Amino acid sequence: MNAKRVLSGMRPSGKLHIGHYVGALQNWVALQNDDGYDNYHLIADYHALTTNLDTSNVEEDSIEMTIDWIAAGIDPEKSPIFRQSQIKQHAELYLIFGMLVTANRLERNPTLKDQIRDLNIKQVVFGHLGYPALQAADILLYKGECVPVGEDQVPHVEITREIARRFNNHYGEVFPDPEPLLSRAPRLVGLDGDAKMSKSLNNTVLLSDPPETVEKKLRKAKTDPQKVRKGDPGRPDVCLIYSYQKVFNSDETEAIDADCRSGALGCADCKMRVAAKINDELAPIIERRKELEADREKVRRIVIDGEARARETAEATMREARDGMKMGALDV
Ligand code: ATP
Ligand code: MG
Repeated sequence: MNAKRVLSGMRPSGKLHIGHYVGALQNWVALQNDDGYDNYHLIADYHALTTNLDTSNVEEDSIEMTIDWIAAGIDPEKSPIFRQSQIKQHAELYLIFGMLVTANRLERNPTLKDQIRDLNIKQVVFGHLGYPALQAADILLYKGECVPVGEDQVPHVEITREIARRFNNHYGEVFPDPEPLLSRAPRLVGLDGDAKMSKSLNNTVLLSDPPETVEKKLRKAKTDPQKVRKGDPGRPDVCLIYSYQKVFNSDETEAIDADCRSGALGCADCKMRVAAKINDELAPIIERRKELEADREKVRRIVIDGEARARETAEATMREARDGMKMGALDV
């Protein structure tokens, strides 16, 4: 049986948060450790340009993110890690895919609408509107069939499927039909109660936050406004902290639900219970991080190696695509 190809990436915008972890990264690791899958992981540095033109930190951020990925369990020997910008085939396939999707379809992309609202974007640049076509190229260059992502990415995978079908109809079967794979927490809420934990909204717990920081951040988080002190009956369904209990402390959620409603459990205790669980999950990641931080040259070598391997796969796919289009190298 052929292993199923897994492709997923993230934008290098600094250190990762627990939303990235439970929403996607943890699934990457699970798939990697299953023999039925074969992973590729992309550092989406071109995608980072959609919302930030300042590239002065992009290289450092890419290394920082690689450290987070490896610390979380990605094994770069099994799963190549590479920067999008170093594999020129992404740009080439993106150009072709740009012909296979309408502007109208891209304007309806709900994730774009969310970003325009959240980041207060006044004028959308062409590259931001078109980035699902670049993402389609990211996935399909590696013939990705399984795309483990958070909920906000599902519309992009749908556009990718449409583009793959259009290409195949015109030029022959080159690309698979990729499917998104959602995790136990496809959209982790931010510490401020915002719909999405997000770097740009400043409402995150970082994967690299030490235990005291996690506790401090949670202590400040808002809970049910009707529950002012211990003894007041609370409503878990409107409480941010309860939504974290469900993700990080699933064994105890039933008891916590009952004790919150009855008033037996106060918010301060409830917060420290989930903080302890989050810290348990982060402890081994923080430990592995230390080693990698001490040898950044090794991390850079890992990316250089991943880029060589990714380039080979990408060029093999691109050759098929060019041949299908009768735009391949000339034979004599
Ligand atoms: P940020 O807004 O913090 O920069 P992002 O969404 O821009 O995050 P991406 O690089 O676009 O980060 O996404 C990385 C992956 O992590 C995607 O699969 C995305 O769906 C997932 N993800 C990001 N934030 C969350 C979250 N709060 N809950 C679940 N998954 C998330
Ligand atoms: Mg990001």
